[in-house]
Amino acid sequence: MATLLVKNIHTLVTMDDDRREIPSGALFVRDNVIEQVGTTAELDTEADEILDLEGHHIVLPGLINTHHHFFQTLTRVIRAAQNSDLFGWLQSLYPLWSNLTAEGMYYSSQMAAAELMLSGCTTASDHHYLFPNDCKLDDQIRAIAPLGLRFHASRGSMSVGESKGGLPPDSLVESEAAILQDSQRLIETYHDNNRYGMLRLVLAPCSPFSVSTDLMRESAKMARAYPGVRLHTHLAENKGDVEYSLETFGMMPEDYAESVGWLGEDVWHAHCVKLRDRALEKFGHTGTGVAHCPCSNMRLGSGIAPIRKMLNHHVPVGLGVDGAASNDASNLLHEARTAFLLARVKDEDPGAITAREVLEIATRGGARVLGRDDIGYLAPGMAADFIAVNCDRPQFVGTASDPVAALIFCQVDGVDYSFINGIKVVENGQLLTGELPLIQAQCQKLATQLVS
Ligand SMILES: [Zn+2]
Repeated sequence: MATLLVKNIHTLVTMDDDRREIPSGALFVRDNVIEQVGTTAELDTEADEILDLEGHHIVLPGLINTHHHFFQTLTRVIRAAQNSDLFGWLQSLYPLWSNLTAEGMYYSSQMAAAELMLSGCTTASDHHYLFPNDCKLDDQIRAIAPLGLRFHASRGSMSVGESKGGLPPDSLVESEAAILQDSQRLIETYHDNNRYGMLRLVLAPCSPFSVSTDLMRESAKMARAYPGVRLHTHLAENKGDVEYSLETFGMMPEDYAESVGWLGEDVWHAHCVKLRDRALEKFGHTGTGVAHCPCSNMRLGSGIAPIRKMLNHHVPVGLGVDGAASNDASNLLHEARTAFLLARVKDEDPGAITAREVLEIATRGGARVLGRDDIGYLAPGMAADFIAVNCDRPQFVGTASDPVAALIFCQVDGVDYSFINGIKVVENGQLLTGELPLIQAQCQKLATQLVS
């Protein structure tokens, strides 16, 4: 048993049920679990390790990323895909992605995870949907484990190629039998549904324009046979996506999702830019979640998701940076700020969303979307996943009246400390669990190979 006391926290943002913010706060952690939350005076106790933050840091629950494609770190800012919409962008990138190898998957996953962790992410879900050459989801799982990031790995898939009316080339799709067999193998090998589990599995057919109705139904059936295995896909991302749904299935995306059993508390959809009011009501009633990816939606000119309306309809909303080839960053703090600004643009209303609501989406919201009741806020019995940001930095000058809101109002690039499952993974803004220069060099080499 090991204990940790974090004390003299300038403001401890608990995000608990009362949304308490505790001045001169302290946290007491035993192993991987928070045991006490209070003021520094209240938690005056001994511990194996003491982290004295000297009154300069804001501490908050670790941020949660609910949508990403780590492998795309190898193909950022590709010239031919810089100015295309979703379908054109995908069609420019598919040929490059068909060169992906297991080694590329390994290092791009580590690179993306490192960027996320340095920007405050303590839990991430990745949506990996293509398996050319020697790629297996095991390579990604193997890559993330040593970094200590809490991880929801998605066994994504594509089964409808161009010759059958889908968007991806036939060479990049798999047979549905092979997809389902591998999905079952991965769940049975890796899925940990215990409280504080570090690795869970998700089944994630890529999108309505790359998989069949059958695969959607069969994936849902399989996921629901295993407690805690959730379902994830892309939905209603842009105008073209909606048109494809109407032409191919004769239904709006939300109706298609419902027809294949893809509404419910165990499902979350990425983007949902084009969902209408009626769909938002359905999502709210059924508890179907959304991964909001504002940077990607702006970058691809897809539109602006109606986040205020989603929140009003009680739709569970989490934040996602989306793939590294359509952001083209993996910075979750930046994403939160963008979500904040964009919601105000969408409604032409500076009251559309507050800084604290955005922090809530990034923490509690993400936890709900991923189906977790052990992360997302800081309270006794919750996982010890928390981050600290030093307010003694240029961006915080002049923000003494509300440094918590300044986390969102002012652009903060990274965190100073991060603990995941009680383990210190970032210290003084440096990653402790991986050799960043090595990961970066390997990734750069593999990216060059992939593109050439
Ligand atoms: Zn995506």
